[in-house]
Amino acid sequence: MSRYTGPVCRLCRREGQKLYLKGEKCFTKCTLEKRPAPPGMHGRVRRPSEYGLQLREKQKAKRFYGVGERQFRNYFAKAVKVRGVTGKMLMQLLERRLDNVVYRAGFARSRREARQIVRHGHIAVNGHKVDIPSYQVSPGDEVAVRPRSLKLDMFKALAESLEGHTVPAWMSLDPQNWKCKILRLPERDEVDAPVDERLIVELYSK
Ligand code: SF4
Repeated sequence: MSRYTGPVCRLCRREGQKLYLKGEKCFTKCTLEKRPAPPGMHGRVRRPSEYGLQLREKQKAKRFYGVGERQFRNYFAKAVKVRGVTGKMLMQLLERRLDNVVYRAGFARSRREARQIVRHGHIAVNGHKVDIPSYQVSPGDEVAVRPRSLKLDMFKALAESLEGHTVPAWMSLDPQNWKCKILRLPERDEVDAPVDERLIVELYSK
């Protein structure tokens, strides 16, 4: 699957919204605040069509979670099959990704970094190494940084901020042991993605 490897701030500028793709920098020196115009856009901005709005919302969700087109479609197909409101199910599937959980637990400064951390084998689920960023966590799962990985500077640098880190109510954090437990599935208002998923459902329902 091809993955965007260009400057990530460009993605926020394209969506006209902070997607928090760069960790700490997003809170201190955000590029979007200095250059709010979409990349390559000069002069008057045209009002987007209904389709344009729906498309942008889908792109935003993909970029926020770092998911490719095909994988996103698969999530949608799965969400349709699950009983419940499709949009909510879609957001739940995205939020349950292991890389997202690692970020939400405070084990990484951004979802991008979390993805790398998982890929490099630093994370265990229920005591077993899992290096698949898209792995879906379930209630009762325990996600932890593997003990031998804790010697790395990357985690040492995060140790202080982890103490005061707050996690959403669907998970609990044990910062001393770098573990987090999945208590239940997330509710929509506990998902911090700045996305109107109804527009995505409309887009795919055409
Ligand atoms: Fe987006 Fe963060 Fe770059 Fe700001 S600093 S534009 S929030 S990635």
